[in-house]
Amino acid sequence: MPVTKEDILKVLSQVKDPDLGKDIVALGFVKDVNVCDGIASFTIELTTPACPVKDQMKDQAYHLVMALPGIKTVNINMTAQVRASHSEQKDQLIPQVKNVIPVASGKGGVGKSTVSANLAIALSKLGAKVGLMDADVYGPSIPILMGAVEPPKIAPNGKMIPPVCHGVKIISMAFFVPKNEAVIWRGPMLSKMVDQFLGAVDWGELDYLVVDLPPGTGDIQLSLCQRIPLTGAVIVSTPQDLAFQVAEKAILMFNKLRTPVLGLVENMSGFECRHCGGREEIFGSGGARRYGLANQIPFLGEIPLATNIRETSDGGRPIVEAFPDSPSAKAFFKVAENLAAQISVENLQAASPDRPEPKEISQPSECEVKIVWKDGHESIYSAFDLRASCSCASCVDEVTGKKRLDESKIDKNVRPLAIEPVGRYAIHFQWSDGHRSGIYTFEHLRNLGGVNQVPGS
Ligand code: ADP
Repeated sequence: MPVTKEDILKVLSQVKDPDLGKDIVALGFVKDVNVCDGIASFTIELTTPACPVKDQMKDQAYHLVMALPGIKTVNINMTAQVRASHSEQKDQLIPQVKNVIPVASGKGGVGKSTVSANLAIALSKLGAKVGLMDADVYGPSIPILMGAVEPPKIAPNGKMIPPVCHGVKIISMAFFVPKNEAVIWRGPMLSKMVDQFLGAVDWGELDYLVVDLPPGTGDIQLSLCQRIPLTGAVIVSTPQDLAFQVAEKAILMFNKLRTPVLGLVENMSGFECRHCGGREEIFGSGGARRYGLANQIPFLGEIPLATNIRETSDGGRPIVEAFPDSPSAKAFFKVAENLAAQISVENLQAASPDRPEPKEISQPSECEVKIVWKDGHESIYSAFDLRASCSCASCVDEVTGKKRLDESKIDKNVRPLAIEPVGRYAIHFQWSDGHRSGIYTFEHLRNLGGVNQVPGS
């Protein structure tokens, strides 16, 4: 009996994607299976070209199919199709950008911009379409780091065309603010800038948009998280930074915003001597790995403190571009691969049918809100009930979880004046009683149920 397509799929179902925890057939990665005269050919389409176990899976697939009786040749075409973190692309500010990855740190000077730049270039070198947005308005350093000489051009349609440096499209506040002019921005201006960066830039199709956030946990982070569906954040810390729990503030902020933390990067982790190649743990190391383990946050890798990392950055050619084979560059590539894997994991989980996500939000009447969920379930809420179940800090005590809001004081005819999406996890209501700080997560709304549900979902 000659080998059939089914035989090939059967053996390939033994190949497991270790990050996604399922086999490549169940994941739908195996395509275009053909077998004829002892020659088997098929495509494995991964969820990222930067997959850290790409070669390992290809190897395993090759040997499994080769072991089938009568197979003489196995041709495997490895491709990748990065999945978007959001399924509904219309109405998005940047519909062609599949994943937005903010890079954050608890304080300045830990190497957040250096890591952002090297990660962006590394992802691009691994085959992805990448953009880098410098949102660090207080110290925009990306154009220098990336060696950008040209500011963005303006297209006939008025959109900004970002310059491309080392394969990465970049945009930065530094392009628009005269040198040495201190940028003093306040909340509303920051939000406006975020909108402009996002909406007025012709990013084209991107697999990953890396965003270099300003250090800390201020307005810009909030603006970003509320305007676009972020896939998840990367937190950069130094070993001593973790010891003092500065990085933890950034992690807590993303937790509060229900934006997943995709992982931790420990930068300046041990000093690598360029003369002898020896390593010295100046600030200690391994703190981020231990912290990640203890808090169930993936650890993406550690970057050594190395003179050539600073020198290449200062020279506008980050180390993954300038010396891709150096130990420091390899450390960045490893982090980039681990990050890409975490993004795939996050997107797979987000696409899981167990996660509630609205398909349609409407108002059957002034005082009612209706949500049709992706799984077909429908919830109709009275505006009063929704207002009463607000879980913002002024309505519910953050520490004790006890309700602060006195329901008897809520206007019986309260109604939403505006209903806006928050990232891809929640909805923000502006109420007619002036209350506007409530963010309702999809889980919260789904658990509230509403007054009239279609059963059986
Ligand atoms: P941040 O964005 O957190 O403020 P930067 O990326 O601007 O930090 O880095 C601060 C300084 O530290 C820069 O001069 C940069 O070149 C240097 N630097 C960052 N990471 C490393 C590293 N791993 N080894 C050596 N120098 C580094």
